[in-house]
Amino acid sequence: MKAGVEPLVNDGFAGEATKRTLGYLQKQREKGKNIVGIYCGYAPLEVIRAMGAAPAVLCAFANKTIEAAEMVLPANLCPLIKSSYGFLKTDTCPFFAISEAVIAETTCDGKKKMFELISDLKPMYVMDLPQLPDEKEALDNWTVMIKKLKGFLETTFNRKIDDKEVEKEIKETNIKNKLMNKIFDFAALTPTPVSWLELYDLTYLGQAATTKDMIALLNACVAKLEQRVADGVYHGEKDSPRVLVTGCPVGGDATKVFKIIEEAGGVVVALDSCTGMKAYSGMISENTSDPYAALSRRYLDLPCSCMTPNNRRLAELDKMIKRFKPDVVIDVVLHACHSYNVESHKIKEHVTNKHQKPFLKIETDYSQSDVEQIRTRVEALLETVPKK
Ligand code: SF4
Ligand code: SF4
Repeated sequence: MKAGVEPLVNDGFAGEATKRTLGYLQKQREKGKNIVGIYCGYAPLEVIRAMGAAPAVLCAFANKTIEAAEMVLPANLCPLIKSSYGFLKTDTCPFFAISEAVIAETTCDGKKKMFELISDLKPMYVMDLPQLPDEKEALDNWTVMIKKLKGFLETTFNRKIDDKEVEKEIKETNIKNKLMNKIFDFAALTPTPVSWLELYDLTYLGQAATTKDMIALLNACVAKLEQRVADGVYHGEKDSPRVLVTGCPVGGDATKVFKIIEEAGGVVVALDSCTGMKAYSGMISENTSDPYAALSRRYLDLPCSCMTPNNRRLAELDKMIKRFKPDVVIDVVLHACHSYNVESHKIKEHVTNKHQKPFLKIETDYSQSDVEQIRTRVEALLETVPKK
């Protein structure tokens, strides 16, 4: 945001999503709340919250722990997995330290096998994620896994999870998602009054925080954004090329990509990833006869590249392109993430043929060694956008 504009979340942690969220979770822990670590967007947060616990995201985005991880893991593995494992190997992950149990899912091979290496550190439950989301069995099997997770949590924490509480959490999530989407609607404005960093601050905290705690914050953010619009305050320049970023989760050291886009004159108006808007997409069916089946449907609808076919990602991109009106689409693929890398070809065809938008795939990791190379490619991409 331009100098002099009050940060959207003015709590002294603007731009420091991890620190803010860690502080929030530590306070929850001090109040006696249990913390459950998660590694993926498929973790059914509503079941964790229905038990009165708070979820802590354990996926890591820091280069500093990769070297330690590579003493055990292969170097040609996705940096997200290496960084996450490296934090545990060096015993330096504060989120893991306060987690009393861990939920893992069989998404990609690297993560799945990494979980075996850490399974003795904390009570862990590995959920067998169906990967053909359109099959009826997928819905049934994932519902069973969610119910088994409930059993694991009940046994581990010696506490019953009431179905009514799960239903209540479904409704809370829907309220939170609606509010969060109100914020995203501001990003859809031209020019946009909100920066990607501000969106990231909110989406990161929103995974850990309860709806009750988020409602006041999100409503205050909406009021601030309305004021910014009324005052003619916007991010970037009025005619900055608008960028939709899709692909792998991007946080921490990988946010170099966002910084490069903005330094090259673009504005990121949409983040289609698990560290962006994906966690707040879709509504969960309410008042059904089986809230676990309702959760199963919602989570299976998440368009991750570990699913096949992953046509939902194309459908979601259609909606996002219509809503956020990007001038270009950038697909960020982490090194050695084969599923997103292979899928990138389909995304390119879809974006360039159906939507006639310029497209760029960036393969990167958490190091800074490729910053100048990425900058050259992003600048060349943005130069293709006609002046408005
Ligand atoms: S990209 Fe896929 S595997 Fe990674 S966190 Fe998201 S849903 Fe899970
Ligand atoms: S970015 Fe790709 S390889 Fe890395 S953990 Fe996620 S799905 Fe797996």
